[in-house]
Amino acid sequence: MPVSINQLRAIIQTAADKRTQREKAQHLVDAICDVLCVPVSSLYVTTGEELLLVATKGLSESGIGCTRLPMGVGLVGSIAESGNALNLANAPEHPAFHRVDELAEDSFVGFMGVPIVHLGHTVGVLVVQTNESRAFNDEEESFVITIASQLAVDFDIADFVQTEGLSNYVLNGKAASPGIGIGPVVWVNSSELYEDIDPEPSFIPSEQRHCFEGALDLAKRDVEDTLGSLGAEHNLDGLADAYGAMLSDPGFIEAVYSFIELGHCASFAVQQASENIIDALQAIDDPYLKARADDVFHVASKIVAHCRAQDLEAIVHDHPIVLVGHNVAATDIAAYPSGALAGVISSSGSGLSHTAIVAKALGIPCVMGVENISAIDVGQDLIVEGNLGRVIVHPTSALLQEYHELRAREAQEYAELAELRDLMAITLDGQRIQLLVNTGLLSEITPGLKMGAEGIGLYRSEIPFLVAESFPTESEQEAIYRQVLECYNGKPVYMRTLDIGGDKPLPYFSFSEQNPFLGWRGIRFTLDNRPILRTQLRAMLRASIGLPTLNIMVPMVGEIDQIDAFKTLLEQCRQELIETGLDVRQPKVGIMLEVPSLISQMDFLSGRVDFISIGSNDLTQYLLAVDRNNERVASLFNHVHPAVIAEVYRIVRKAKTLGIKIGVCGEMASHPLAVILLLGMDIDSLSMSAFQLPKIKCLIRALSQERAELILQRALRKSSAAAIHELLLQELRDSGVDYLFKSLG
Ligand code: PEP
Ligand code: MG
Repeated sequence: MPVSINQLRAIIQTAADKRTQREKAQHLVDAICDVLCVPVSSLYVTTGEELLLVATKGLSESGIGCTRLPMGVGLVGSIAESGNALNLANAPEHPAFHRVDELAEDSFVGFMGVPIVHLGHTVGVLVVQTNESRAFNDEEESFVITIASQLAVDFDIADFVQTEGLSNYVLNGKAASPGIGIGPVVWVNSSELYEDIDPEPSFIPSEQRHCFEGALDLAKRDVEDTLGSLGAEHNLDGLADAYGAMLSDPGFIEAVYSFIELGHCASFAVQQASENIIDALQAIDDPYLKARADDVFHVASKIVAHCRAQDLEAIVHDHPIVLVGHNVAATDIAAYPSGALAGVISSSGSGLSHTAIVAKALGIPCVMGVENISAIDVGQDLIVEGNLGRVIVHPTSALLQEYHELRAREAQEYAELAELRDLMAITLDGQRIQLLVNTGLLSEITPGLKMGAEGIGLYRSEIPFLVAESFPTESEQEAIYRQVLECYNGKPVYMRTLDIGGDKPLPYFSFSEQNPFLGWRGIRFTLDNRPILRTQLRAMLRASIGLPTLNIMVPMVGEIDQIDAFKTLLEQCRQELIETGLDVRQPKVGIMLEVPSLISQMDFLSGRVDFISIGSNDLTQYLLAVDRNNERVASLFNHVHPAVIAEVYRIVRKAKTLGIKIGVCGEMASHPLAVILLLGMDIDSLSMSAFQLPKIKCLIRALSQERAELILQRALRKSSAAAIHELLLQELRDSGVDYLFKSLG
């Protein structure tokens, strides 16, 4: 065969110049046939549990985009599963050989298949076949491996799926919130100004003018509200002026109108007009003017966001949609009214991101870290499999029908679980666990009550801050907190003080950090910004007048001094209110245990705190040094990791010795396998999303505490998360309620 390096370079270069993915793949399989003098070469790519034929020379072309081979079955399936190449002189003799009738490949004997590996995952298989018995030599094998490596980086499956309109194509991601969601796609308002804007001049100018004018007004109001209120305090008056000037600049407005007159949409017109200004400013050799280019970009982003919000309102009107984006934020979800979202999909983030947590709290199926997300088109129907962490693009009507039925069955399951609503979470041997709910949005308060929550175990008070356009005032906060306390009248409510930072930046108080999860978060931020904390504490205290169920919880505590400083401030706020004649009682005060440094200081908590709630999301992230928000390391984030269970056990035992009430409010509390261990540790309470609560109650009622303790001791002796997982999975199966937790396999 010998192929020279120049020949190889020419093959790869020609492939790179091809217009479509289909042409590119076809060119490569054709070139392989020419160089190796073989009649057949084919390319398969993985899609969920299958391999799809995307190019072939020599096999039936009608199979392209249609023929699917099961993973793990046949020669191609085995290569994909094992990640190992096969080079066989006589393929039919191989035990894994499996005849595929539609490929009409009976007469082929010689076979070589190599896996296409991208970032450690097999994403496809490249195959060569011959009529006669032939074992390929090393040089031939390395030629095919070279082409496969090229395909691994160059072949854009998302583009292929989109342009070919492939049906039932599966995109994999991380299971983040359970359930099945079906609906048309809406791409989230991108914070990147230039993403996903339709450049075609096919719009009606009068409608677009109206859209632009509305968006401009809203952007002006944003600037006045946000920068106006913060201006004096933070010296932002200059910025407010700069933004205001741009929003009223006749040159800019005229430029937008002229693009609209050409038939462009308002977003595109704003983008073009602002780009012209940005280019002009950047061309001037003056650092001040260069910096103004950023202001123009931010202002333009605001207007575009408002233009798009108007488009969205029009779409959402009829049926629930699936929200899709590269980086969907918790606030993007919160911006939609209840019932408007059938699912949420994000290419970044993991099941522990706050986006996922909010989706879960609202019972919206969600998949994070989705690969090849750009295969998803606006407006197309999408199936979201929240349990399995998969998304199905271009579903056929038969598949849609199947999923509608599955969804109805799920709803039925929930309805049956609802019958447990008034029963206690009590084990077979009589151990009682308090089950609480995590909330943050007013819209997710009632589901908790409906599902039988005994109170709110974690009220994420930052969520109202995240969805606001500027810091909520004391009376605005008081009204929200009062509504929460009233709603749970007589039941305990654990309100957490503001926990912004990490993956929850406030849009109107932004700062950038290299390591935000190790940075200015939770109590670190609020103690440095006492006016904000003081306002919040006063609002909580006022809201609790006549509603004595308030407990205040402090996030991200790592130092004992932080607790003391917090309690001093809280008492000052209380005294101030008492001096005005208000009857404010002293709420119970506790901490979230989520910073590992606090574990060895727990003795000092005695007499300082009334309760401890384990924030297992952050605790796990910090113990394992695994970013909870990074899809690349999501598989390392594990609530049943030996180190996590050992530390959680240490915390629970210590709290028990100190006589401090101990619960868990991170996602570990609703992880069925972890719940077995927590039960064995004699945990007092578990707090979770409303939609998980009935399932966990059902599990607790199917377990015995004595048995859970035994399993805990066995788990503590295991050296790997996989071994612990296996042990607990068997226990879950034995409980007979494993059917409720489909994602565990
Ligand atoms: C946690 O860290 O476990 C927790 C409950 O807080 P959050 O997820 O809001 O950081
Ligand atoms: Mg936390």
